[in-house]
Amino acid sequence: MAVTRFAPSPNGRLHLGHAYSAIVAHDLAKARGGRFLVRIEDIDGERSRPALTQEFRADLAWLGLEWREVAPQSARLASYAAAAERLKALGLLYPCGCTRAEIAARAAGAGPDGPIYPGTCRGKEPAGGRPVAWRLDMAKAIALTGPLDWRDERVGLQRATPERFGDVVLMRKDAPASYHLAATLDDAADGVTLVTRGVDLFAASHVHRLLQALLGLPVPRWRHHPLLVEAGGRKLAKRRGSPGLAERRLGGEDGLDLAEALRAGRFPAGVSLGEGLEACP
Ligand code: GLU
Repeated sequence: MAVTRFAPSPNGRLHLGHAYSAIVAHDLAKARGGRFLVRIEDIDGERSRPALTQEFRADLAWLGLEWREVAPQSARLASYAAAAERLKALGLLYPCGCTRAEIAARAAGAGPDGPIYPGTCRGKEPAGGRPVAWRLDMAKAIALTGPLDWRDERVGLQRATPERFGDVVLMRKDAPASYHLAATLDDAADGVTLVTRGVDLFAASHVHRLLQALLGLPVPRWRHHPLLVEAGGRKLAKRRGSPGLAERRLGGEDGLDLAEALRAGRFPAGVSLGEGLEACP
């Protein structure tokens, strides 16, 4: 029995890479007598476009997938705030008003999500008047949990190394929560037992494992699949003109045939399955 999910963000149309990811999650749940969930990750305020959610449903149905849709992130803000309060009560979060430019200028190296926060605001009173994000005091958090492990079905047991991210943002300035906090809480609330997603999010699982330990959440398994790539190895992205699912659907292509082709590893011209975990950050 496995509960899997596909969790698209409605800030751009779905492309073949999303179709592949949704099919992987759907088929694993089906093969293991489980459930396949769809969760709309619409936490990005203005960047989230409600019309796209409707389009996503039509795209997934066109591919022949069956799913249960769970609450979108915009309906779960109270759970993010409550988790942040718990972490604050443990003394693990601190407010940070630094701008991107300030962080880039003093970055303590490069992490999987970008420049590593130099710790400027850690242990300081917040400067008034600036909007703040709330960051996790990574060293304190790791000291509290001790070493943690997690398992990816394709590559096996992993020792969690969330320290590579530095003090990650858990509550954003411009959105109610960060991806890391929201996705971790949602997967637990939805009873997801197997988190399937692309290898581009492999590193994020180190942070998610830490958050599970801090918040007393159940620990799922993970399965990070290779990404579909264009010639040259770049991952598909709508902005580079990779064909969108809605375009294909509205152009009269047969979605069931496309899904079968993706399952069989028959990809459209110029598209292939990229490296697996060798390419993991
Ligand atoms: N909402 C994320 C995205 O569209 C997916 C995150 C996940 O699968 O954990 O990239």
